[in-house]
Amino acid sequence: MKSSFVRTIALATLYILAAPIYAIVGIRRVGHLWSVRNVLTAGKITCPHCSAVNDLDVLSICGRCKTVEYGNRLRCSACRNVTKGFNCDRCTVTIWVL
Ligand SMILES: [Zn+2]
Ligand SMILES: [Zn+2]
Repeated sequence: MKSSFVRTIALATLYILAAPIYAIVGIRRVGHLWSVRNVLTAGKITCPHCSAVNDLDVLSICGRCKTVEYGNRLRCSACRNVTKGFNCDRCTVTIWVL
């Protein structure tokens, strides 16, 4: 009886100590999702290397099923493959979006 009480108190203390860490991780994740949302809403992303503006809706080839289609270059509508980045149209450096 007493050991289960101590175990419960120890577990509650662990949760209380871990709460700020989970809050920080959650805030960072929300910030990342917000920036991804802004990029997807704008439909274009500026290359951090050469400052070229790359449209997201272009004629693209799926890296998995090789379907060629107009649409979002980050997602294939045929096989539902989602890529996290693409190569800049000008300097070919990989731009990570997701
Ligand atoms: Zn595909
Ligand atoms: Zn570039």
